[in-house]
Amino acid sequence: MAGKSIIIIGAGLAGLSTGCYARMNGYSTRIFESHTLPGGLCTAWQRRGYTIDGCIHWLMACKPGDSFRRIYDELGAFEGNRLMPLENIVCCRDEASGRSLAVTADLDRLSADMKALSPEDAGAIDELVEGSRALTGFDTGIPKPAEIKGKLDSLKEIWQVRGLLKYVLRYNMSVKDFAQRFKDPFLRRCVTDLFVPEMPTYFLFVVLGQLAGGQLGLVEGGSLRFSQAIARRYQALGGEISYGASVQKILVENDRALGVCLADGSEHRADLVVSAADGHSTIFEMLGGRYVDQATRHRFASWPLFEPVILVSFGVSRQFPGEPSSSLIWLREPLSVGGQEVKTFMLRVFNYDPTLAPPGGTVLQVMFEAGYGYWYNLRQESSRYQAEKSKAAADVLARLEGYYPGLAAQVEVADVATPYTFWRYTHNYRGSYEGWLMTKEAVMARVPKTLPGLANFYMAGQWVEPGGGIPPALYSGRNLVQILCKLDGKTFTAR
Ligand SMILES: Cc1cc2nc3c(=O)[nH]c(=O)nc-3n(C[C@H](O)[C@H](O)[C@H](O)COP(=O)(O)OP(=O)(O)OC[C@H]3O[C@@H](n4cnc5c(N)ncnc54)[C@H](O)[C@@H]3O)c2cc1C
Repeated sequence: MAGKSIIIIGAGLAGLSTGCYARMNGYSTRIFESHTLPGGLCTAWQRRGYTIDGCIHWLMACKPGDSFRRIYDELGAFEGNRLMPLENIVCCRDEASGRSLAVTADLDRLSADMKALSPEDAGAIDELVEGSRALTGFDTGIPKPAEIKGKLDSLKEIWQVRGLLKYVLRYNMSVKDFAQRFKDPFLRRCVTDLFVPEMPTYFLFVVLGQLAGGQLGLVEGGSLRFSQAIARRYQALGGEISYGASVQKILVENDRALGVCLADGSEHRADLVVSAADGHSTIFEMLGGRYVDQATRHRFASWPLFEPVILVSFGVSRQFPGEPSSSLIWLREPLSVGGQEVKTFMLRVFNYDPTLAPPGGTVLQVMFEAGYGYWYNLRQESSRYQAEKSKAAADVLARLEGYYPGLAAQVEVADVATPYTFWRYTHNYRGSYEGWLMTKEAVMARVPKTLPGLANFYMAGQWVEPGGGIPPALYSGRNLVQILCKLDGKTFTAR
């Protein structure tokens, strides 16, 4: 197939998606990936017969019939994979008061349970549930890239999301501001911490509406299987991929990107270069900070990031029938990890997917936010770093023992991934797991896929799609190829 050649940096979901759509449209492509596996942040790893999942808590818009589901299917994401619809998103539990609230797909039950906890909050509960109900089954459509969108496209998109507009206008405040409408401190905290306190409230309604509409799902066997399926699709389309190939520099001549130089010193050239790798290292290291404008500086200086996390996982020879698969727990006594107080953690019990453990076993995982600098610096002293990881595992296990007496004796595997681990494997800026935090400013902004003054170069992935996440990573690759096709006078195809 004759066509322009493209070098893609990174085989995360955005790089794989860019590669798939580029191949579908006749470009020749080669991906350079520093890790030995595809998927980037969307991954999982093996520990003595247990699969530790490092990513998907919920995959949005994956129900058959949803417009976005078309993208998953175009990329073969579910080929050989079983999608499991999500019925419970989280159970909020407060250790101090003993109160709990299960957030399930049943909005009537959610309303009744919240009103039972705090009848005086009926008004705010109705707002939350009515907004979520109105957006149940809501189809976001597939956004066309702003770069090539005409007036008619914009009108079509507005029509597509007309059901959402009222809520965007009325509930554009952050979730933490909306939560102030709740008088009961437990409910206020549940609403604030359910997902991202800074995100616009209408997005909370979209997520709860997707839960109620059966549009959220999980992939059996773990997140890596999802990424591997897309990598298979890419290779079946004839795309090349080189693993263990870390790009050190983007080659530029006369302000035109020409190719890349790898850590092993080899140089590779192509007509176009796309970085689907971390935004900060692309702009400030691979390109030496030569193509930066005020807006880019502003983003890196002042936009908040999704804070990095620690994942403490255990493979245990025990089963947990009926346990909530995901709990947000407010601890009575904070944990001290890495010199930081942890007041809240997310506990996942992977009891819904027996393929992740040997017969009779289950994976348990605790996730909480952690400072990047501490772990990044600590890794300089390997023994202290390892000791701190072991202490984190022991302290978390002691807390879980309170929930599941006898657990400590059933642990067969313990695994701790720190912010440094996420950085080491993916190079994401400050270990962030989803890029720019979904604030009002970030959600409304458009981050360009090009850099000022640099030709033949583009970016894809979570660093050009504020709010990050799997759907944006995937459609950013699709959108980019639509832009390239338009520039090359081709009709975009997704087959
Ligand atoms: C714990 C956790 C939970 C999450 N939960 C969810 C969820 O429930 N739902 C959801 O939608 N999203 C979730 N996400 C976020 C989602 O995984 C990411 O937003 C998405 O996968 C980002 O994809 P990407 O391709 O843009 O970036 P990345 O995954 O970071 O991919 C970039 C790739 O580039 C490679 N790379 C970097 N530098 C170089 C270089 N110099 N040379 C060569 N290769 C390089 C990296 O190794 C990586 O493979 C979660 C993430 C984590 C970590």
